[in-house]
Amino acid sequence: MVAVPPSNDVDIFAHDLGFIAVVEGGEKIVGYNVTVGGGMGMTHGNEDTFPRLADLLGFCTPEKAVAVAEAVVRVQRDFGNRDVRANARLKYTIETMGIDAFRAEVEKLVGEKMGEPRPFKFDHNGDRYGWIEDHKGNFHFTLFVENGRVYDTDDYQLMTGLREIAKVHTGDFRLTANQNVIIAGITPEKKQEIETLLTEYKMIDAHERSALRLNSMACVALPTCTLALAESQRYLPELVTEIEETLEETGLRHDAITVRMTGCPNGCARPYIAEIGFVGRGPDKYNLYLGGGHAGDRLSKLYAPSVKGSDAKQILEPIIKDYAENRQEGEHFGDFTIRAGYVNETKDGRDFHKDLIEREVAV
Ligand code: SF4
Repeated sequence: MVAVPPSNDVDIFAHDLGFIAVVEGGEKIVGYNVTVGGGMGMTHGNEDTFPRLADLLGFCTPEKAVAVAEAVVRVQRDFGNRDVRANARLKYTIETMGIDAFRAEVEKLVGEKMGEPRPFKFDHNGDRYGWIEDHKGNFHFTLFVENGRVYDTDDYQLMTGLREIAKVHTGDFRLTANQNVIIAGITPEKKQEIETLLTEYKMIDAHERSALRLNSMACVALPTCTLALAESQRYLPELVTEIEETLEETGLRHDAITVRMTGCPNGCARPYIAEIGFVGRGPDKYNLYLGGGHAGDRLSKLYAPSVKGSDAKQILEPIIKDYAENRQEGEHFGDFTIRAGYVNETKDGRDFHKDLIEREVAV
């Protein structure tokens, strides 16, 4: 994965290997901060498994990027845990070796030391919807596709609209890590034609939704995924609609809060770095996590186990109201839930299952 700050729209810390571009002078990439050892999956009831954010390995130049990537894979090949499948991922290798020892092995293979990481700052992990013009004068349209589901309904012909655009589009379609589609590389000559189709099929304003919905994401779960323990993709839109009632009442419709749901703890929609995360435990039963970083830069913490989907709005309502009344200037929801004591901060993966606050959750 490659991220270009301040946008962390690929959730760089959730992946085994990532490159954070260091840009100078507006458009020249002078190198990358390399990240290693992120991963979302865990197993319910097994605290030796946990989600983890990637560590910063160091800085490398563009010329060395491929060599560093190959070295990371080779170190994992040589030091990864082949005996315990649940601990086979790179994130556990780094937990076991320590990041310094891992870096030393990478440097041995690359034949030189990594540089000190360069400063960077992410401010969000969502997509930027609508039109963007690039430095070559071409246009790109990021289309909101709720949970990545492309299908037609009576009043929204999304699949047909995309097919019609595909007939005339000379650029490409890019699927984003946030389940949306970028109609990319639209030449100035083609822009009006595509804009007309976007308007005709009501896609032009598909992103005029609550900021919560625009920052929502769910895995496929039932009926597609055989590992699913609970609904996800088909259920989250309904739950978001319920939570939106509270957001409307409290004036938070346009405040971005990330909410993610998965049907099992494998975490394919990256729920453990959402500000509100639901992870399936069984039919209509979800672990509710709070406190993830708004820019995908902090793990969340279990707030309440095995809540029913139908109780989720009632559980979240007082917390959202508290946030609306008592947040500090610019404070994100995830930060607030920690400061206000709803959950303790998760500082690293080993900490994920610890420091839970015992509470009765009123429903
Ligand atoms: S997180 Fe969702 S898609 Fe991933 S394995 Fe679990 S149910 Fe399947």
